[in-house]
Amino acid sequence: MAFAGKVILITGASSGIGAATAKQFAGLGATLALAGRNMDNLKQVASDCSTKSIPLLLTGELTNEKDTKAIVDKTIEHFGKLDVLINNAGILETGTIETTTLDQYDRLMNTNVRSMYHLSMLAVPHLIKSKGSIVNVSSVNGLRAFPGVLAYCMSKAAVDQFTRCVALELAPKQVRVNCVNPGVTVTNLHKRGGMNQEQYEAFLKKTQETHALGRPGKPEEVARTIIFLASEDSSFITGATVPVDGGRHAMCPR
Ligand code: NDP
Repeated sequence: MAFAGKVILITGASSGIGAATAKQFAGLGATLALAGRNMDNLKQVASDCSTKSIPLLLTGELTNEKDTKAIVDKTIEHFGKLDVLINNAGILETGTIETTTLDQYDRLMNTNVRSMYHLSMLAVPHLIKSKGSIVNVSSVNGLRAFPGVLAYCMSKAAVDQFTRCVALELAPKQVRVNCVNPGVTVTNLHKRGGMNQEQYEAFLKKTQETHALGRPGKPEEVARTIIFLASEDSSFITGATVPVDGGRHAMCPR
């Protein structure tokens, strides 16, 4: 029950990595505020959470400033404090410098970076009070360059630098800030980003070569590292970008 009495706000909790993280936190006694856009999926995740306190479910579009503010305000109104912010919500779109439109660029940067910046700004005064922590969900695409996912890679590199800078800014106030950098993880992200079933199966098969451990990750494996970074077990870690990617970040073609 490492998180008994701790209030955790998770974005993108209605699917994939966020949903797996919510369930693991629940098993450790956390009090949860779960944010997403799809209320039915949020309800399903909440019903899979074995917590004493009922999770607070918050729907909102994170690129909408009013919705983002409401997510923080309602969490504080309901629970009176915030101990951990998990900035997990994100989207993927493909495209190169020749094919990515400015609309796509704006959508990726607004969703993956600007909304994270805004939510963190609003949460920080509460995290300073609780001497809490932030865990951001970046990607191996933040650490390494890949062709064909230009704006996504740029957005995740921004998340990594955001993590390091805010970690240094908040360290004197004893708020830790870290991020995880997952490799290919089996969730809805890629199909939502435009892959059909056949392409997705081929993409997962290719992880035999693209990931040193020869397979894609599971959301639960990423969740375990998120929870470690949010816990007292990582009390001397801040500003870290932690790959959870089966060794992909360490690979070079030869
Ligand atoms: P999913 O598509 O399964 O989940 C994405 C979540 O983000 C959903 O809960 C979705 O809400 C929420 N979300 C997306 N856009 C918005 C928005 N504008 N406003 C509010 N909520 C939003 O993907 P994953 O679980 O894989 O993705 C989680 C994070 O992990 C992302 O940041 C992604 O970039 C990162 N990641 C994933 C990898 C992978 O291979 N899966 C690899 C590396 C990083 P809803 O469903 O309710 O609309």
